[in-house]
Parts: sequence; C-alpha cells; structure tokens
Amino acid sequence: MELKIYFTKDDEHFIVDYNVIANPFATSLADFLYLDFSQDDAWSHTFFSGVDISQLSAAKKKQLIAEATALQKRLGTLFDAVFDAIHTEHTMQEKLAWYSQARDIDPRFSFSDLTIRYERMQPDLYPKSIEEIAEFFVRECLRRELRFRRCKSCGKYFALTGYSNTEYCDRLFGNSDKTCKEAGAVRLYRTKIIADPKIQAYNRAYKKRFAWIKYKKISKEAFYDWSERARVQRDRCLAGEITLEDLEKWLREN
Ligand SMILES: [Zn+2]
Repeated sequence: MELKIYFTKDDEHFIVDYNVIANPFATSLADFLYLDFSQDDAWSHTFFSGVDISQLSAAKKKQLIAEATALQKRLGTLFDAVFDAIHTEHTMQEKLAWYSQARDIDPRFSFSDLTIRYERMQPDLYPKSIEEIAEFFVRECLRRELRFRRCKSCGKYFALTGYSNTEYCDRLFGNSDKTCKEAGAVRLYRTKIIADPKIQAYNRAYKKRFAWIKYKKISKEAFYDWSERARVQRDRCLAGEITLEDLEKWLREN
C-alpha cells in the first residue's frame, strides 16, 4: 500500500489505494500524541493508514509500537515548548531555536532531510515511516505558525484554526456523544445561571440566615420554613413575575 499525504489550506489528505481520508489540518498530528497502543483502535489512526497491521509479525508490531511511543514523547516536548499557545510574547521561531538548544529537554524532536516532492502546487509526501509523517506535519505547522491549545475539558492539544479564543476541542467528551466544545458550552451555561444576580441574592440571604442558626437567632424549623418561602420568591423572580428589587425587598423584610 502506498500512502501519499498532502495539505490544502484547511485540510490534511491521506491517500491510500485511491481512498482519500480528509481531516481538518493537523487533527491527526494532535491526536497521535494521545494514542494508546494497548488499544486496538490506535491502529485506525491515519498515520498508520499505509500499514496493514494484520499482516505484521508480532516482532514488527512490537517494533512499530516502540517507534510510535518514542515519537509521541519527542512530539510531546515539542508541543509543550513550541506549539503551545501560551507565551505568545515569543514567536514560534524563537521558541524553536530555544527548544533546539536547551540542554534539559529530553527526548527532543529533531529534523531530518525530509524528501518532499512537488507534483502540483502543494508539497506531497510519500512517507517511509511515521517519523516522516510527523515531521511533514511539524514543518507545515511551523511554516503556518499554527499554535495549539490544551483543551480546558480533556487537556489534549488542539489546533487553533479559525476562532483562536476557543477553549475546548472537538473530540468526543468522555463516553458521551457530545464534543468537549458542546459539553463545555453546557458547563458555561450552568456557571452563568449560578452567577445570575437573582440566584446570588437568594444565596446571600440563605447563607446569612443559615449562620443565624448557629448564633441561636433563629430555630432550625424557622429557618427551613423561611428558606422554603424564599425559594418560592426566587423562582417567581426567575420566572419574571416579580423584579429583582421585589425579591431583595422580600429577602430583607422576611
Ligand atoms: Zn477536549
């Protein structure tokens, strides 16, 4: 099976036996970092689309896993030091120069003499190894000055294309059918509700009242009775039946 890889402005293309696999650019590079080779589905990653895993001997497979695991580690240090979108005060070229010279970085990703063909307008790669695939991507990311960010939800790197203030990735979140981005949006919505001034007014009054129990200013029973009535007022306020001022007045006077 011969594998050919090329990039367009937005996408990466892997062509094997006339089949084209297309993903948003650099998706496969970022995903490669997190492959778990104890799981069979790791082999369905596009980096291995030129390899027929079922035809590999146990020894060859073991060797490929060792190679891929070592590559993951080298790419990991490169992502942390160069591609991570934190510290934007330095250019990627500056970071790369620092990364290449730093003595305490181990293992480090290094560049080879990659043979890239130019058949059309864009460069094509016929990779001989997964290292070459990774390097092809790394070079292109550097050329595009593409930065990556750790997803706020799953902690994995994702490429900052398009809206660069995105904080969540498009991977599926845990075992759900939602992506981190969709799950993140739900979470943001929840934090917004908690920050609602009506709920805050109720929460403040609730805490104050609750402390009164300790100082024996109010009995537990009276407190629970009050909090039940206060919740009714809060919900009326959330439903728009009374204003925030009405609610605050009620909370002060009851
Ligand atoms: Zn994520």
